[in-house]
Amino acid sequence: MAVVSRLWRGGAAVCSPAMMWLSLAMDARFSTSLGPPKTRDPGGRGVHWVFLGCPGVGKGTYASRLSQLLGVPHISTGDLVREELASSGPLAQQLAGIVNHGQLVSNEIIMSLLTKRLEHGETKVESGFILDGFPRTIRQAEILEGVTEIDLVINLKLREDALLAKCLGRRICSHCGGNYNVASVNIKGENGRLDFIMAPLLPPADCASKLITRVDDTEEVVKERLRIYNEMSKPVEEFYRARGKLLEFDLPGGIPESWPKLLQALNLVDHDDKQSASA
Ligand SMILES: [Zn+2]
Repeated sequence: MAVVSRLWRGGAAVCSPAMMWLSLAMDARFSTSLGPPKTRDPGGRGVHWVFLGCPGVGKGTYASRLSQLLGVPHISTGDLVREELASSGPLAQQLAGIVNHGQLVSNEIIMSLLTKRLEHGETKVESGFILDGFPRTIRQAEILEGVTEIDLVINLKLREDALLAKCLGRRICSHCGGNYNVASVNIKGENGRLDFIMAPLLPPADCASKLITRVDDTEEVVKERLRIYNEMSKPVEEFYRARGKLLEFDLPGGIPESWPKLLQALNLVDHDDKQSASA
């Protein structure tokens, strides 16, 4: 907490040891820009990317795949919150009340969890990152801008009917923690032909009998979460659009339809794509 307090008192100009990690330049990796695509960063560090998108859009899935492809850590503030919830830490009880009502976790709590995670990464000398679920507010974006340069912000978007179906179809294996989705989305266009398909992501046999639904994945909570997200996200999108860093990406369907197109938009190649497209 000491680091966070310093950060907030001192504003964006203060660099904590953990935040210094954010700007460490290590081995050469890919990068991209909204101008002519480039695949190498001249500074020789890992990418500094942010994923925006409403809850359930698949940020975690795509951020995780890209982090593996690029060899940088995927840092999800949602996961950080869930890990804290599952722990008996001092914030767990407070968080449970907030999350179960579909409300957003405060800046202070998110910054505290993120700082703890970055300090952990610092000890492992990580390079670059893909942030998922952060920043959610202009204030958080300003803090981030003050401590490191963000290369690219990918704004994932999905039509709302598909989004709601996918949110309600989410399941977690209570045994291994694997994420699955039982919703099969087939939306017909005006001509009666299927024009939007998202296949379910079904679990292997071992997990099938152990699936649970997250307590915050009820229709009421999902809708409230989307409403809050839409209200809050516009200024953050505008923040990055004004800086020429926002890449809008409309998901054209499920992972098999979307992954190749996302790579194309980022000027990346996944040599293992044939194996991983259905994973
Ligand atoms: Zn399992």
